[in-house]
Amino acid sequence: MAGLEDLYREIVLDHYKNPRNRGQLEAPPAIRAEGLNPLCGDEVVVFVELSGDTISDIKIGGQGCSISQASASMMSAAVKGKTLRELRDLTHAFKALLSIHDHDHDGEETFDHPEVELGELEALRGTVKFPSRIKCATLSWNTLEQAVVEARTGA
Ligand code: ZN
Repeated sequence: MAGLEDLYREIVLDHYKNPRNRGQLEAPPAIRAEGLNPLCGDEVVVFVELSGDTISDIKIGGQGCSISQASASMMSAAVKGKTLRELRDLTHAFKALLSIHDHDHDGEETFDHPEVELGELEALRGTVKFPSRIKCATLSWNTLEQAVVEARTGA
């Protein structure tokens, strides 16, 4: 199965070298949140703009390892234009891909959201084999979640 792993590696590398939605937004009106992963030295800055319940724009800043930065780039491409409800499902599905289960601890291995299309995010599946890198892959997602919570509470 080296073929699929090679393809995944290429997708991750492409996002690392050519990050999507790189930059910043004026905050406010955008919300800015910062995430750190001290274990690896990764830093991700997320700027997100909501219009109603929809992520109308997102920009990513920061620096760190290829997994953290590629994951942030892939996330930005995946969530732009999505509603917060879709974002929640996507976040859940992505974490399930990495064997992280936020709410259910019943030991079920089944994929919770078969209706969620992960697309290129599937390329991070291999991270599961390197538990120390899972925090790299989820850093941007947790940072976005933090930004959305701030936006909702008007903090
Ligand atoms: Zn890292």
